Amino acid sequence: MSTLTGIFGGTFDPIHNAHLRVALDVVEAGGLEALRLIPCHIPPHRETPQVDADTRLHMLRLAVAGEPRFLVDDRELRRDGPSWTVDTLRTLRSDFPDRHFCLLMGSDSFRGLPGWSRWQELAEQAHLVVMQRPDPGRAMPEELTRWLRGRETADWSVLHRESAGRVLFQSVAQLAISATDIRARLAQGGSIRYLVPDPVWDHIEKARLYRP
Ligand code: ATP
Repeated sequence: MSTLTGIFGGTFDPIHNAHLRVALDVVEAGGLEALRLIPCHIPPHRETPQVDADTRLHMLRLAVAGEPRFLVDDRELRRDGPSWTVDTLRTLRSDFPDRHFCLLMGSDSFRGLPGWSRWQELAEQAHLVVMQRPDPGRAMPEELTRWLRGRETADWSVLHRESAGRVLFQSVAQLAISATDIRARLAQGGSIRYLVPDPVWDHIEKARLYRP
């Protein structure tokens, strides 16, 4: 059996169907043994969240119940303050020394990679899998284009064989769903049914999350 595990970090404020569907596309395309969803502390530059970390975590657990390949990993929330992804990957490597990891990110997050702490070290810890998002898209920063040379591959078997350092662009279902749009609909009193899994929708409705 493969030992390649996917890592999908995000604010998940809230988790929605696009997160789940594109993650499953990657799991199936890459033959991943599992995928760990890792909610992060809300970064300081974002708007103050209306839901706390425990609630985001609870919604994640509701969302993945019944899908044995998806695991919720709360390691970043158990640490105080924001965690850098590169440090999170290091802890995963030490907890699971016999596994290889690939870090999933949407194309928007990937374009912003040069703004991440010690971003070039990420590829020492894991492979990167970039999922195209349905957005008009800005151009890729020049330094990222240069960094990509020699790392890019379209062959998943390379990611299974090598322990880290490769970048693979994976096509996934194009779903124009975002947490920003979901929060805006709720703030305006709208319904978000069918944009999130039913148990998440139910929880948001009952707890009146994100409502004005
Ligand atoms: P927000 O709108 O609050 O920024 P988001 O919907 O982008 O939230 P995040 O939790 O910030 O969700 O994203 C986690 C990861 O999921 C990021 O790498 C992001 O690019 C990716 N992602 C989110 N929505 C999609 C989508 N519709 N298609 C592909 N990737 C997505």
